[in-house]
Amino acid sequence: MTTVIDGEAVAADLRTEIADRVETLAESGVKPGLATVLMSTDPASETYVSMKQRDCEEVGIEGIHVEVDPDAPAETLYETIDDLNARDDVHGILVQLPVPDHVDKRTVLRRIDPEKDVDGFHPENVGRLVAGDPLFKPCTPHGVQKLLAAYDVETEGADAVVVGRSDIVGKPMANLLLQKAPGGNATVTVCHSRTTDLEARLEAADIVVAAAGLPEFVDGSMLKEGATVIDVGINRVEADTERGYELVGDVDYDSAKEVAGAITPVPGGVGPMTRAMLLYNTLMAASRQHDVDIDLP
Ligand code: NDP
Repeated sequence: MTTVIDGEAVAADLRTEIADRVETLAESGVKPGLATVLMSTDPASETYVSMKQRDCEEVGIEGIHVEVDPDAPAETLYETIDDLNARDDVHGILVQLPVPDHVDKRTVLRRIDPEKDVDGFHPENVGRLVAGDPLFKPCTPHGVQKLLAAYDVETEGADAVVVGRSDIVGKPMANLLLQKAPGGNATVTVCHSRTTDLEARLEAADIVVAAAGLPEFVDGSMLKEGATVIDVGINRVEADTERGYELVGDVDYDSAKEVAGAITPVPGGVGPMTRAMLLYNTLMAASRQHDVDIDLP
C-alpha cells in the first residue's frame, strides 16, 4: 500500500503549534510581524503575497504589506528594505521575487538583515546552512524535511536524489539531506539538465525529490519499488477545466504511486508546507530578536 503524504494535514498541525507559540510570545508582549514587499503587478506574485498575508492572520502573526511601484528606481526598494530592517515590529522580511529587471536581485537579498531573512536566501544564511549551522532554512526544502520526519521516512543512510539545483529548492534541499543532523545523513545526488543517465540515478534512489519544473517528468518506470517520492513541482498545463488549466507536479502521480512506498500529491503535498515554514521562520525570528524562549515545534 502506498502512503499518500498529506501536506495539508501536516501543515495544519504545524500552524496550530505556531499559533500556540505566538500566544506564548504575546505573554511577553511580543507579536511576530512579517513584512511582505511587492514590486510587481504580476497577478501570480500578487496572489502569493496575499496568501502569505492570510496565513499570517490565521496564526496571529502581524502581516505588514508594502508595495513599491515597479517603475520606481531600484534604490527605492533598497531603502524600503532598510526601513523594514530598522523597525522593531517587523521580525521577518520577504521580498516577493521576481523583481523588475532594473533591480539587482542579489543586492536585494544582501540588503535584508540576516536576522530577518525568513526566506533564508541571504548569503550569510546560505553559508550557515552549508556549514551545518543553519539559522533560517529556506521554506520549501525545510518543509520537505518536516514532511519526511512526520511520516518517519528514514533519511540516515538513504540514497537520495534531488532533481534540480536551484538556489531556492534543489541546492538547499541537498544540503539539508546531507547534514550530519536529524533529517539528514543521506547520501545525496543532485541532478540537473546536464546530468547523464538520470534514469539510472533515479532507479537507485530511496528518496526522490523532484524540483525541475517539468510537468510529470518523473514516472513510475524510473523509480525503485518502495521509494519515497516528494514532488516539489507546480506546473500549469492546459486542461479542459473552467480555468483552462490544471496544476500538475514534476512527477506522473498515477504511475509513480504504483511503485512508490510514499508519495506527495500536487496540490496538497509540499505547497502547504512551504507556506507553513514561512510562518515558522517568522516565529523563530521574533523569538530570537526579543530573546524569548518558546520551544519551537
Ligand atoms: P528552476 O527553474 O530554478 O530550477 C529547475 C532545475 O531543474 C534546474 O536546476 C535545472 O537544471 C533542472 N532541470 C531542468 N531540466 C532538467 C532535466 N531535463 N533533467 C534534470 N534536471 C533538469 O526551478 P525551481 O527550483 O525554482 O522550482 C522547481 C519546481 O518547483 C517548479 O515547478 C516550481 O514551480 C516548483 N516550486 C514549488 C514550490 C512549492 O512550494 N511546492 C516552491 C518553489 C518552487 P539547470 O540548473 O541545469 O538549468
